[in-house]
Amino acid sequence: MVGTVGAVRVGVVGGSIAGCAGALAAARAAPEATVVVFERSGGELRDRGAGIGIQHERFAELVEAGFLDASLPATPGHSRDWFTRDGVSADGGGDSGLGKRIWRQPFPFNAYNWGHLYRSLRGRLPGRVEFRGDARVVSVAACESGAGAGASVTVADGSVEHFDLLLGADGYRSVVREAMFPGVVPDYAGYLCWRGLSDFGELKGLPQDSFFTVGFNHGHLVAYPIPADDGRRHFNWVLYSAVPPELTGNLNTATSIPPGAVSHAVLDFMDSLLTRELPAAWAAAIRKTARENVFIQPIYDFAAPAFAKSRMLLLGDAGAVSRPHAAAGTVKAMQDAASLLDLWRTTTDLDELAARYDAARAPAGAAVTALARRIGAAQVLETPDWAAFGEAEFATWLGAQMQLPDGTEMGGRRL
Ligand SMILES: Cc1cc2nc3c(=O)[nH]c(=O)nc-3n(C[C@H](O)[C@H](O)[C@H](O)COP(=O)(O)OP(=O)(O)OC[C@H]3O[C@@H](n4cnc5c(N)ncnc54)[C@H](O)[C@@H]3O)c2cc1C
Repeated sequence: MVGTVGAVRVGVVGGSIAGCAGALAAARAAPEATVVVFERSGGELRDRGAGIGIQHERFAELVEAGFLDASLPATPGHSRDWFTRDGVSADGGGDSGLGKRIWRQPFPFNAYNWGHLYRSLRGRLPGRVEFRGDARVVSVAACESGAGAGASVTVADGSVEHFDLLLGADGYRSVVREAMFPGVVPDYAGYLCWRGLSDFGELKGLPQDSFFTVGFNHGHLVAYPIPADDGRRHFNWVLYSAVPPELTGNLNTATSIPPGAVSHAVLDFMDSLLTRELPAAWAAAIRKTARENVFIQPIYDFAAPAFAKSRMLLLGDAGAVSRPHAAAGTVKAMQDAASLLDLWRTTTDLDELAARYDAARAPAGAAVTALARRIGAAQVLETPDWAAFGEAEFATWLGAQMQLPDGTEMGGRRL
């Protein structure tokens, strides 16, 4: 059926980055359409990941496409310093507590605060986009053909609504994806990360304006300063390591664990890791985050077999989750929407739109997932002897992980 744009009803499940970007794309592409966003959370979405690194070129593309604001507060970055524990810094600076600096990698990324990015994106939604909070979609059913082609959603309050096009932007445990591909779920990568924030101004002796990584046996720390709400800077850190399953319970089924719900055993494991593996200054910086504010995220990944089926489309983590090492998930979510907008401007046939969207975005999702899996294997599951690296060897080792032959690289693919 060829959808008549003026009459189109677009539903969006999920109101985070992918959901707001998808709703924005729909509202721009079809100015007469009704656009309804269903977000299960009732309050403001604030804490979906504290810091976000975005590659300079990917950021500029998304500004150009009208999804990001060029003036979004950022900590500017150009380099990533790689450290490991051996007591003496590589540049002869003595034991600074930072460990040995293995290499300063050119790294064209800025660091952003997730909350700033989200609010800026959501602020772009025109008033006619109906954003419904506290609206959890419990099931989705495809309506395959005829005048009623599309999908219907059932909300937790029992109401049912039909849409000509449904965007699944409901994250890695997507109900839209479940309706499209029952049983296709993320795989546990075999490790998790602890995350936290502290006041960067209170930390002594850390390098400024840089991304940092500290490698250790079966894991690494990623840290960088991000702009806080009050003009200060936060120290944003993510510590990856495998944890014995007897401490975590079964993580094979995708789950999320909010701050305050992390078990003492898993926090104690982190503490022993800090003592055993990290140079003193980095361990001290992490310990500035109160234990009750540390949260964990088990690491999952997967790519859906297709990004569209009938009139249902997947955006963001609902379609493909990449391990965070590629620093590409937020970018990919907005790129999915930007691509949808571009395609929609060339066709009003919703079936054709869905097919073309799938062709454009499913390969990108699969590629970023593959790249991040490769980085995770090298930097968590099969770590090298970090301290033994010379600069040139390290650059070669790292370079081999950071790019796929099709041009997919850390930070994502070109839009
Ligand atoms: C440790 C870590 C570090 C990261 N660092 C970076 C980085 O540096 N750069 C980068 O680009 N990306 C990064 N990412 C990835 C990025 O955070 C995600 O890819 C991105 O947030 C996905 O956005 P999304 O909107 O697709 O999904 P989500 O943020 O998961 O949003 C899904 C939304 O759907 C809602 N929802 C779910 N189910 C329902 C339902 N049934 N009904 C209604 N609403 C529902 C949820 O409440 C939520 O608001 C990182 C991720 C992690 C874990």
